[in-house]
Amino acid sequence: MAEETIFSKIIRREIPSDIVYQDELVTAFRDISPRTPTHVLIVPNVLIQNVNDVLPEHEQALGRLFTVASKIARDEGIDEDGYRLIVNCNRHGGQEVYHIHMHLLGGRPLGPLLSD
Ligand code: 5GP
Repeated sequence: MAEETIFSKIIRREIPSDIVYQDELVTAFRDISPRTPTHVLIVPNVLIQNVNDVLPEHEQALGRLFTVASKIARDEGIDEDGYRLIVNCNRHGGQEVYHIHMHLLGGRPLGPLLSD
């Protein structure tokens, strides 16, 4: 059984966060340490640790991440200029929080995909 992270508390609104969207499948909130003018995390409400744990039964919720990313990008006015979606997995991927999440980054040119 995977251990809950701070994101479960955010989803249940037990701790404060800047939630920009929530429905029965996913929650989106602003990153506490934004790397770009728009930096939103979009997470399934159900706890999945990372991409290694994804199952066919998660497809609806994980598909919703993209629908919501598209909506938020439009709402933030960054859809035309563009943005980047990132999902980190485990140590080499730079994952810090073990509740699968999609980063929506935009609001300025982002440069190359990898810095090293
Ligand atoms: P990862 O490296 O796991 O892909 O990204 C985790 C992200 O979660 C980081 O960008 C970090 O700033 C963000 N984060 C960690 N703890 C919190 C928190 O308590 N609230 C919010 N809003 N973001 C958090």
